[in-house]
Amino acid sequence: MSLIKLHDKEFKPFLKEEEIQLAVKRIAGEIAADFKDEVPIFVGVLNGAFMFIADLLKHYPYPSEVSFVKLASYRGLTSTGIVETLLEVPENIEGRSVIIVEDIIDTGRTLKELVHLFSNTNVKEFKVASLFYKSEVYNGEYPIDYIGLEIPNKFIVGYGLDYKEQGRNLRNVYQLNNTKMINIVLFGKPGAGKGTQASFLKNEHNLKHISTGDVFRYNIKNKTDLGKLAQEYMDNGDLVPDEVTIKMLRDEVEKNPDAKGFIFDGFPRTVAQAEALDNLLESKDMEIHATIALDANDEILIERLLARGKDSGRTDDQDEDKIRNRFEEYNLKTAPLRSFYESQGKFFSVNGIGEIEEVTNRLGEVISSLEVSG
Ligand code: AMP
Repeated sequence: MSLIKLHDKEFKPFLKEEEIQLAVKRIAGEIAADFKDEVPIFVGVLNGAFMFIADLLKHYPYPSEVSFVKLASYRGLTSTGIVETLLEVPENIEGRSVIIVEDIIDTGRTLKELVHLFSNTNVKEFKVASLFYKSEVYNGEYPIDYIGLEIPNKFIVGYGLDYKEQGRNLRNVYQLNNTKMINIVLFGKPGAGKGTQASFLKNEHNLKHISTGDVFRYNIKNKTDLGKLAQEYMDNGDLVPDEVTIKMLRDEVEKNPDAKGFIFDGFPRTVAQAEALDNLLESKDMEIHATIALDANDEILIERLLARGKDSGRTDDQDEDKIRNRFEEYNLKTAPLRSFYESQGKFFSVNGIGEIEEVTNRLGEVISSLEVSG
């Protein structure tokens, strides 16, 4: 087995066909022992489970039936993710035992939707079988009855699983080769240009941009629970409590397991958030490579923010008192992060004043030096 390439990404060998087949055979045996006295219906979750369910049934020694459901998860900005049913639950399952067959269970969002789907039917009982299971990220809401292989939180392809629809036909399973990943924190006061710069840098360096302020604003606009929670703090220019923000950030990172790297914008803003970020990344074999500060003085920033407030309608940008309160929050809670990252040897700063392009170039130089040193 050697490296493979799908679209723009490289993947390295992770699990061999033989190991996978052993796990499939074992699950078939476990299910057979539990259901030998009846005829269960195996329901595969498309598209990922097609290969697993085919092999599973080849190893299943007793009479059985097979059917499929299809869900689509839209992983936008919300932390919950919305799951839509594309292929409904099979008919005639009333009073029957159903085995839901999943290729992989990670956070548990899809599983939640599946449980919801089958709870609305009159099945005798339903069990869940998953070939792969990411114990590190699973929310633990429902029991998983049959598990093939527990795997770390890596992005994998092959044996039914895809990267942008490719790789499903591979007999072995591969994992993303992300040794070249680069993760950056953009640091600076409100108005320093973090968002503007991130939108250029993410394209140039193929990174995923996560702005906690943007995610909060999206949630407020869509009146989600998270939005309702954050609104009052944001309106006053106060920080949203760490607990809420850290959880949200974790969800955003986990929605993008295939990212080549991240630009964190507006996070961390407290030492507790920085520590949580280090822990989160470490658990995924990742790390922050650089924290880059955009330096600018308060009077220029206030001018910029008031101008932005007029254009964008952001209320926290329209009132000088609220702006000053955000600066105070920054000085008190965020500024100490400078020494946090300095002590890790990861702190850089660039002059944030000048033409947008000039500032992008200054940041680009720092990022390129990281890419070269690997
Ligand atoms: P921003 O768009 O980054 O200026 O953020 C706007 C507002 O969102 C802040 O004033 C906070 O109320 C809230 N917010 C954004 N990021 C964080 C964070 N990391 N921790 C706490 N609150 C945050």
